[in-house]
Amino acid sequence: MWLNYQSLSARTALLKFSQGRRSEMKGKVKTLSRIRNGEGVEKLGGILVGDKKPIVWVAYRDPCDSGRKVVSVASAVGCAGRCKFCLSGRTRPFVRPLTAGEIASQALACIEEARVVNFACEGDAVCSNLDNSCRAIKMLCRLNLGLTFIITTTGHQENLKRFLQKYGELPIRFYWSLNFLNPGTREYFMPGTKGSSLVGLRNIFEEIYRATGRVVTVSWVVMAGLNDSVYDAGRIGQFFNGRAGFEIKLMALEPGSLPGIETHPEEDIERFGQFLTQVGVPFRVRKIVGGRIKAGCGTTAPLN
Ligand code: SF4
Repeated sequence: MWLNYQSLSARTALLKFSQGRRSEMKGKVKTLSRIRNGEGVEKLGGILVGDKKPIVWVAYRDPCDSGRKVVSVASAVGCAGRCKFCLSGRTRPFVRPLTAGEIASQALACIEEARVVNFACEGDAVCSNLDNSCRAIKMLCRLNLGLTFIITTTGHQENLKRFLQKYGELPIRFYWSLNFLNPGTREYFMPGTKGSSLVGLRNIFEEIYRATGRVVTVSWVVMAGLNDSVYDAGRIGQFFNGRAGFEIKLMALEPGSLPGIETHPEEDIERFGQFLTQVGVPFRVRKIVGGRIKAGCGTTAPLN
C-alpha cells in the first residue's frame, strides 16, 4: 500500500513536473494560423514571443514510414545556407539561432500524435545552432513522450565532431542534404557549404554511424539536367562504395523551389533510381508532400 502510494505520488509529481515544463516551453512561440491541405499536412504559422519574428513549421505523416506523424521545426530565423532551391535560402538572410525553448515550443504545439521531430524547416541545426537544438531535444526527451529526432543538415565537419563528443547519446538520426558531388556545383547551388570537404563530411557521418548504430540518410533532390544523369549515379556509387551506414533517399524538386528548373515526374525519379541500381546503390524514393499549401521542402519561408 505504502509502495503504491509512493509510486502514485511519484507519477503525479512527474506528471505535474512534465506539465509545468510543457507549459513553460510552449510559451515561447505564439501560434497564429494553422492551414491543412486535406492530405494530412498541416502548416503552422506564428511569431516568436521574444522578438515577434515570424516563423513557420509543419506537421505531416511520413509517406515513407507507415504514416508516422512528424513535426518539422525551424532552428533559426532565416538561414545562412542560402541554398538556391529553397525559399528561405533565397529570401531570408540568417538573423539569429532560435533558443532551445523556441524550438521545443514549435514541437509542443502539435505533438499529441507525433513520434518524430525533424529539424528541417528554416535554419540548419548542425551548421548554425547545434547546442540549442540539442538542448531542445534534451528538454523534449525529459517529457518521456517516446519521441525520436531527425536533423537535416548540409553538414559541418567540426560541429559533427562536437556532436559526437557531446551529444552522441541523444536519439538523433541525420539526414545529410548532399544533392551534388561536384564541389563547385554544390557550392554554387548551396553557397553555405563553401569550403566544406565532401570526403571529410562522409567520413564523420560514417564515424557517427559506427558510434551510434544509427544509419545516415543521404538526401538527393533530383534536379533536371543538374544531378540526374548516369554519370551522377556513377559518382554516388563510387563515393559510397564500401562505406557502412548510409542509405540514399531520392526526392523530386518541390515545384517552384528552384526558378527555371522543372519538377521531375515520378517516373524520372524512378529512372534515376535505376541508374543507381545499375551501380549497386540501394535507394528509396520520398514523395513530396504539402506543396499546395507551401509546406513542402524548400517552400516554407514565412512572410516577413
Ligand atoms: S535548404 Fe535548408 S540549409 Fe538550405 S537554405 Fe533552406 S533551410 Fe537553409
